[in-house]
Amino acid sequence: MAVGTDRRQHIVLLPFLAQGHIIPFLALARRIAQRHPGRFTLTLVSTPLNVRSLRSSLPPDSGVLLRELPFRGADHGLPPGAEGTDSVSHGLLFKVFQASASLRPEFEGLVAEDIPREDGCPPICIIADVFMGWTVHVARQLGVFHAAFSTCGGFGSAVYFAMWLHLPHRHAASEEDEFGVPSFPETFRLHLSQTSPALKNVHDQDPRVIFFREQITLCCSSDAMLCNTAKALEPTGTALLQKNTGVPVFSIGPILPPVTRSSAGRAGKVLGIAPEACIEWLDAHPPRSVLYVSFGSQNSVSAQQMLQLAAGLEASGRSFIWVIRPPFGFDLKGQFRAEWLPEGFEERVRSSGRGLLVRDWAPQLEILAHGSVGAFMSHCGWNSTLESLARGVPLIGWPMAAEQFYNVKMLEEEMGVCVELARGLVQEVDPAEVGRVVGMVMGEEKGKEMRRRAAEAAEVIRVATREEGAEKGPSLAALEAFLESVQKGTPATGNAAA
Ligand code: UDP
Repeated sequence: MAVGTDRRQHIVLLPFLAQGHIIPFLALARRIAQRHPGRFTLTLVSTPLNVRSLRSSLPPDSGVLLRELPFRGADHGLPPGAEGTDSVSHGLLFKVFQASASLRPEFEGLVAEDIPREDGCPPICIIADVFMGWTVHVARQLGVFHAAFSTCGGFGSAVYFAMWLHLPHRHAASEEDEFGVPSFPETFRLHLSQTSPALKNVHDQDPRVIFFREQITLCCSSDAMLCNTAKALEPTGTALLQKNTGVPVFSIGPILPPVTRSSAGRAGKVLGIAPEACIEWLDAHPPRSVLYVSFGSQNSVSAQQMLQLAAGLEASGRSFIWVIRPPFGFDLKGQFRAEWLPEGFEERVRSSGRGLLVRDWAPQLEILAHGSVGAFMSHCGWNSTLESLARGVPLIGWPMAAEQFYNVKMLEEEMGVCVELARGLVQEVDPAEVGRVVGMVMGEEKGKEMRRRAAEAAEVIRVATREEGAEKGPSLAALEAFLESVQKGTPATGNAAA
């Protein structure tokens, strides 16, 4: 369709090459397309394998177009078939970042020439991942609106940016190994164990530091920053993000994918269990009696921790669904070996009906939406956090990387919806402690209060994203205000300031 004749306008979205980014980008594109079918054309751009997976799960009436960019991962030392963080070992993660930056010439060609030629109208806006700050150059060159989309929360993003920009953990000199973070209140302290492995032992000239500083700084010169959160969910975090970046921040979330019973996994991932089988299993359990255990799309605990966690889950006496994949250090895509679980574990939990082990990828949203789920043991990646809170499900935190440590800190200390069980991959995990924490969070004392708070968070989320007649919740109103700025080409005013 020639956009020029029906005055549709084109928005191009470019997520970072990770499921935790692609999933909310797609959800955002679908939300805009669904709200404004005649007003905007949405094109989500990624690499061939990612686009192929997305295509297999995207309904034909989604209103979102998909475009491929050629990806030359081998030029950056990536193995064949590796087009995202979920298909590489941890040692290769940074290469995915480097390879993603090499998409620039093709992306530029797509936005400047291919799309205008094929659609009759040049894109008016690029919404790009905060890890793709280089897209600001493309937008400036073409004179189009640029928005950076942070798929993390406000608080998590603000701390994460400050950590890379200032590396404050290098100065942790006190006996407690605690440190403050520039541009944060003095009372805000982090412990060295809350530093992501990627930030350990880095210095100003480290290629990772140079890379992240550049992307973050570029995003701070964007026209707007979209954040997948609700202002009322994390007022302090969104205000800090606004203050520290200086960009108009729009808290437009949570933007969550729709719950479906489709046999295709989210973003086209292959499911380790059919959603119906999972739901049937959950149906056979009482309300709030099941613990869901999953560490996102690209993380796994260590081999020793896996044995300890398994023993702890048995010790807890609770029912559970556990998404298992090979432990940290092994090929995450490889075959799962029996020796990674205690002897007889799988058979015991299966025959007793107490546990359901799902290989690699589960229908997470559908599980969390089920009334039998009472708690979520999670690495507290932001998507998982939002998906849990939107259903009023409290969390047991086990952060491993990136901004997960700060998410857990906020969820536990400010929101009271999480208890941190463990941190990172080196700590030993006492099975008895696993049992104790699971019992506490799913129990009737602290657990009850956590469920109350999680239900409050769910209500905040519902209100932020509701639409009743002409009345819109604040997140929805912020999305509309953002689109208005894009369409008019006027400077944006965000909604995140305190
Ligand atoms: N996810 C899923 N099934 C799984 C594991 C993950 O559907 O078995 C989805 C999950 O619902 C979420 C995303 O993958 O939308 C993970 O994002 P998150 O930010 O929680 O963690 P990340 O993978 O980025 O560390």
